Amino acid sequence: MVKIRVLIVRRIMCILYCWEEAFLDFLDRHNTKIQAVLHPLSMASLVSVIGFLFVYDMLYALPELTDTQGLWYKLHCLWSIFAVYSIFSNLWVCFWTDTSVQALPEYRRRPHREEAHLWHYCPNCEIMVPPRAWHCRLCKVCCLKRDHHCTFTANCIGHLNQRYFLVFLFYGTLGSFQSLIYNFMYVWRTGAFIVADPFLILSFGQPDRDPTIGSKVLASMVLKVNLVAAMAAGGMFISQLLMVYRNSTCFMMSDRTYDLGPMKNFRQVLGKRCLWTLLSVHINSPLPHDGTEWPMNKHTDV
Ligand SMILES: [Zn+2]
Ligand SMILES: [Zn+2]
Repeated sequence: MVKIRVLIVRRIMCILYCWEEAFLDFLDRHNTKIQAVLHPLSMASLVSVIGFLFVYDMLYALPELTDTQGLWYKLHCLWSIFAVYSIFSNLWVCFWTDTSVQALPEYRRRPHREEAHLWHYCPNCEIMVPPRAWHCRLCKVCCLKRDHHCTFTANCIGHLNQRYFLVFLFYGTLGSFQSLIYNFMYVWRTGAFIVADPFLILSFGQPDRDPTIGSKVLASMVLKVNLVAAMAAGGMFISQLLMVYRNSTCFMMSDRTYDLGPMKNFRQVLGKRCLWTLLSVHINSPLPHDGTEWPMNKHTDV
């Protein structure tokens, strides 16, 4: 029985390995085409969803829930503009921040003698790269503390731009959940729950149908899109938060080698001014090091 289980596990591992190899091979062969389609598509869908929810909430959902001349509505408008600005400004800077090994000054692209054993060779770039730097098959460079390749920012998330990515996700999550609450209240108030079943859309054109069914179907569809967006943003934010908390990366989520404690871990990503970075992308928050020397926790053997 145990032997059969071992054989099954081996077989599954073998299949997964083959799929991974085929997938990586596919990435290598169609690198340019994938980027040309995937990145603009991801960016367009992100801008459309955020822009649509922003306008829809301001012009349709909120006016149904509160007085448009009142303080609450005005505060909401100000907050929403700030949240959308924070989302896109952080996304923009994240896109333009080069976190590759080439971003290092020339003299730091080679290891000091005492740290040479921690560096490794990248056969694709044909250079020695610092610890935690890995090669990206889409960007075709090695990135400092590479976390993952993001299709929304069209580049790799790593040591130099993770701050912007984390703040982008923070406001994305906050904004989408806030929108979800408003949309839920709007749908509840307008009674659009009853048209949640898409088959009811088929009642269009029938003479005895509810005259407001069009707006109800729209409201219920927006709520569903909003729900998916909030779940996606929230899921990504929580996983990033967990990795920053542990000072690990997407590929080694449970690795605690570089875990220096929550405060120090957050400073390694957000920099010296830590939570002040939430206020503006323009706040200068120097990182504790250049991304080549990674202090390990004292329980790790080198
Ligand atoms: Zn490389
Ligand atoms: Zn990449």
